[in-house]
Amino acid sequence: MSTVPDIFGSMVFNDATMKERLPKETYRALKKTVREGKILDITVANVVANAMKDWAVEKGVTHFTHWFQPMTGITAEKHDSFISPLDDGNVIMEFSGKELIKGEPDASSFPSGGLRATFEARGYTAWDPTSYAFIKENVLCIPTAFCSYSGEALDKKTPLLRSMEAINTQALRILRLFGNTTATRVLTTVGPEQEYFLIDKELYLKRKDLRFTGRTLFGAKPPKGQELEDHYFGSIKPRVAQFMADLDQELWKLGILAKTEHNEVAPAQHELAPIFTNTNIATDHNQLTMELMKKVADRHGLACLLHEKPFAGVNGSGKHNNWSISTNTGVNLLDPGKTPYENAQFLLFLTAVIKAVDEYQDLLRLSVATAGNDHRLGANEAPPAIVSMFLGDELTEILKAIESGSAYNGTVKEEMEIGVDVLPHFPKDTTDRNRTSPFAFTGNKFEFRMLGSTLSISGPNIVLNTIVAEELGQFADELENASDFKAALGGLIKRTIKEHKRIIFNGNGYDDAWITEAESRGLLNLHSTADALPYFCADKNLTLFEKHHIFTRQEVRSRCEIMLENYCKVLSIEALTMLEMVKKDILPATYSYIKRLSDTAVSARSLCPDLTCESEIKMVSKLSSLCNCLYVKADNLDKAVIGAKTYADPAEAASYYRQYVFAAMQELRAVADEIEGMVGEKYWPYPTYGALLFSV
Ligand code: ADP
Ligand code: MG
Repeated sequence: MSTVPDIFGSMVFNDATMKERLPKETYRALKKTVREGKILDITVANVVANAMKDWAVEKGVTHFTHWFQPMTGITAEKHDSFISPLDDGNVIMEFSGKELIKGEPDASSFPSGGLRATFEARGYTAWDPTSYAFIKENVLCIPTAFCSYSGEALDKKTPLLRSMEAINTQALRILRLFGNTTATRVLTTVGPEQEYFLIDKELYLKRKDLRFTGRTLFGAKPPKGQELEDHYFGSIKPRVAQFMADLDQELWKLGILAKTEHNEVAPAQHELAPIFTNTNIATDHNQLTMELMKKVADRHGLACLLHEKPFAGVNGSGKHNNWSISTNTGVNLLDPGKTPYENAQFLLFLTAVIKAVDEYQDLLRLSVATAGNDHRLGANEAPPAIVSMFLGDELTEILKAIESGSAYNGTVKEEMEIGVDVLPHFPKDTTDRNRTSPFAFTGNKFEFRMLGSTLSISGPNIVLNTIVAEELGQFADELENASDFKAALGGLIKRTIKEHKRIIFNGNGYDDAWITEAESRGLLNLHSTADALPYFCADKNLTLFEKHHIFTRQEVRSRCEIMLENYCKVLSIEALTMLEMVKKDILPATYSYIKRLSDTAVSARSLCPDLTCESEIKMVSKLSSLCNCLYVKADNLDKAVIGAKTYADPAEAASYYRQYVFAAMQELRAVADEIEGMVGEKYWPYPTYGALLFSV
């Protein structure tokens, strides 16, 4: 049997494989282009492509694809075989440098948010050589960025790479100010913790709502939910353990650093955490992880649900985006360090993040806004929809002491002087206790906890990288011109704390009192996706993205439109699915049960005319009136859906969907769930919550 180190990365054309298979000068040329972010020379590309093809063919691969991340949020691929005809009727396997570096998928069916109307219709994919090629299901996959011919980004990778460039540029300016001449690149790092549910595949297939929308649109609460808290970190059931072991193998083959697997709070809920890596790779890997979770589950007769809220009444699933900034020399810039010097630099990076989160709360909020995530944020199981930061008591005390220039009474007894004094060590357990904060400092990184489980982590990281780049840039502008660096640094840190401390909140984010408190601090509380998304196009945000070359104004507007439209489409599909379920399954099933009850009463009475058959009659009467009610609610929903057609403006449509369609859906569900509670299980057309949550 092969060992883990043997299989790890075995399906990746990684650095070791390149070194082994490429001629020395090709390898060096490739590394140089990657380092300098240049376009690969075609003669080099030809050699690389051929070596890649040989490597892949040896592993049984017949096709290749440019693997990209369009605005749909999932990945896309179009397979081409390596075959090339010969004159004698045979074929050879070929893969050219041109095919490696550029592809032209038909772009017309991917969302572009109006970009195509104004620009050229065609799009092309371009190899991202900073992410290794890999083999997935006998196809050689080339990670690529997807752009229109006039250069607009049509995907999620292009702006992410741009944002990494922006923070690199600005962070290096800061490092130079601190006399660092050795670091030549600054990278952001991410470790996304992925939550998911596993349920039995057979049961999954019996539910139209799960199949069409990824979540249950109906379902009466089972007698047992998560109240005993007996699932969290509980022992893993054999079928799930087999799934996890199989998944690990698949992920390791692709060089994905799957590390931790455990049960989560809700029944049937689990989590996978990888070891962190640079943001571009982490994003590619998270997309692959989600895809493989579904595929591997299928092999085990399971369905993996990545929806943010598959079941009402138990926790939904999120994704914690652990984020930090580090140099290519391996220094984590959000680690306080051990010397006064390192501490001063840390405090500057920390205050840049504080200022960024405060000034761009709206962007962070909307970067996680989706129809699915609306069920979680602010629902007492996930962070509130209000963006705030947790720093822990100790760090907060230190910032207070710096701000007021007074002595700090914690570990440090004297007045803290930046660049002179050493910060106390923050043990992880003092910084990691708060689980309700949307954005928590956890010792040497921040954990952005508002992401929904299905979300591509690209969006939130584009925002994080860009807003922190902006603040670092502002800081660098100020400090580069200072005559006395140390005094200017102290002043800047102090002033930033004073101006942005309102964003720091160490208390319980689930507490209602926080909502009131946040409001009095002037923090935004954007309840739903429909409320949040329009902020994308606020002038300050358009200016920000334009300044750092992340998005043009037009690109922001088009993305905003795509996200709003997606929100409306999701709600529309959910509403239509509910209507179909009610009309085709739930009402007919209830009528059958009513008939069964009436027949029972009639035949009982024909045997014993004295019988009152009170229970049957009461049940019939109750169910019949609930059916009337269900019919009315379905009719209301129908009308609400039709009403949406009158809104052409995406923001208006989204807000209409939120206000009317979503409300009508909830009312319809309430009645259906009540009926479910009364109808015999044999009659009910769908597997119940009890079966779905407790059968694996
Ligand atoms: P938990 O949050 O469950 O207590 P950890 O703090 O150990 O667990 O790690 C959670 C995630 O944070 C892991 O994916 C880990 O790789 C990631 N992580 C740790 N350090 C960093 C870092 N410097 N940058 C980005 N992610 C990190
Ligand atoms: Mg965590």
